[in-house]
Amino acid sequence: YQQPVQGNISFRKVNFRYQKDGELVLQDINLELQRGKMMALVGHTGSGKSTILHLLSRMYQVTSGDIMIEQHPIKEWDLKSLRSQIGVIQQDPFIFAGTVAENIRFGRTNISDDEIVQVLTHVQWFESMNPAEALSMPLQEGGKNLSAGQRQLLSFARALITHPPILILDEATANVDSQTEHHLQQAIASIRHQHAWLIVAHRLSTIVDADEILVLQHGKIIERGNHSAL
Ligand code: ATP
Ligand code: MG
Repeated sequence: YQQPVQGNISFRKVNFRYQKDGELVLQDINLELQRGKMMALVGHTGSGKSTILHLLSRMYQVTSGDIMIEQHPIKEWDLKSLRSQIGVIQQDPFIFAGTVAENIRFGRTNISDDEIVQVLTHVQWFESMNPAEALSMPLQEGGKNLSAGQRQLLSFARALITHPPILILDEATANVDSQTEHHLQQAIASIRHQHAWLIVAHRLSTIVDADEILVLQHGKIIERGNHSAL
């Protein structure tokens, strides 16, 4: 199954366990998300936040219940097509020895330099550098010559470059400096309406901005609502 996606996501009575005889890691998860909306997942360590993101990109199959995109169960989607609809902003992205441009292209040859400059501008990568310098800037394996914050900006650029309708982000707990956080926040705000956002949130700024916050505890949603309601 494949068709252009609007970014409508729903989880219906989703239960999940990693191991056959293991305990349920998610129980009765129900959620709805549309393009232009941002959902924040919060909860203690081990409560199941990252697992929800993994299930959406079908890294694992649900134990029972359904995850739908455009009213269609994701288990029926062509996997490649499903994943191309979901941009994953990784905390610790895979960075190889090569230029910034090569790392953003990440093997996708149909992406022009102009598009890369646009997306780098968007995430406010340029400070003192001009675009040509930035594109050809050499990165070391693992991004060792970048800060943690810069690695996350690069990861954001890499996810945005294909304009996926759905963006998922597992926020870093501590390793992003306040300036990078500000850049990320501004970048998200300006394109917020173009995507459906599912964010594991640690930063207050994200939580305050979210349309809906789900509070997870031991794999269950124990509270939901926006920041002023909770
Ligand atoms: P954190 O805030 O620490 O990132 P989280 O809310 O993202 O926590 P998950 O990573 O979703 O939590 O984990 C939920 C539960 O599933 C935990 O009990 C965890 O130990 C377990 N778990 C996570 N990944 C696996 C895995 N690959 N195999 C087995 N169990 C796992
Ligand atoms: Mg996690």
